[in-house]
Amino acid sequence: MTVLFASDLDQTLIYSRRSMGSEVKPEELIEVERFEGKPQSFMTEQSQSALWELDSNTVFVPVTTRTREQYERVTGIYEGSEPPQFAIISNGAVILENGEPIKEWSTDIRHQCVSRKTVIEELLPVIQQHFDEEWVLRVRQAEDWFVYLIVDRALFPEEKIGFYTEIFRSIGWGLSLQGRKLYFMPESITKAAAMEYVRDRIQADYVIAAGDSLLDLDLLESADAGFLAAHGEAVRADAEISEHIIVTEELGIKAGEEILAKVADLSVQSK
Ligand SMILES: [Mg+2]
Repeated sequence: MTVLFASDLDQTLIYSRRSMGSEVKPEELIEVERFEGKPQSFMTEQSQSALWELDSNTVFVPVTTRTREQYERVTGIYEGSEPPQFAIISNGAVILENGEPIKEWSTDIRHQCVSRKTVIEELLPVIQQHFDEEWVLRVRQAEDWFVYLIVDRALFPEEKIGFYTEIFRSIGWGLSLQGRKLYFMPESITKAAAMEYVRDRIQADYVIAAGDSLLDLDLLESADAGFLAAHGEAVRADAEISEHIIVTEELGIKAGEEILAKVADLSVQSK
């Protein structure tokens, strides 16, 4: 039986110094991403070995909101020098097969966004209307797919997130606050839909998914087994989750280790 392990990267499998927590010793860390000459993200040595040594029946597919350029920096998840056969990036708007985007997939997503009017040109005026605030440091666009604000978390009014979520949901955009980034994601761009495409392509019989944020919930819901990192936005937001989804006991980079150990067990059991 073929198992698909579809996992978010940041704060699920890989961690910045800021997000890894205090439970980890420096000698346990492996650098998995370098940015502007500096180590940017890490796994523990144990996590990396568990990922590389997953049973051969299990296909690992990274599922990330990172853009292609941001994703391609995370070479520490590769086993050897070859990237995974499939990678889901830009939150599901783009699927890479052997490193190249599947054009038909993204064209179809683009059509859905246009027909629902969830395109950046429609969104920006609404953002300007509501976010003329001192805690908005920058407005960024991810390759014409979605928008995120870089916010000052010290000044950000957490209590207003529910209010903003309602406003943007009514025009077809989901919100997700992760660290200093507040994402605005069109409802047509989901990790679950892209995962289901890959699942069908590799004819997987069983799907294990892992994540931490609200943008990962659809992915976990559409899997057979799911792991949700306890430190993440989804748990903090008290999001409703189905019974096949387990919240980790550990926090930070140790939650990543826990997820990979459990995935390795499931993978062996399903042989
Ligand atoms: Mg994440």
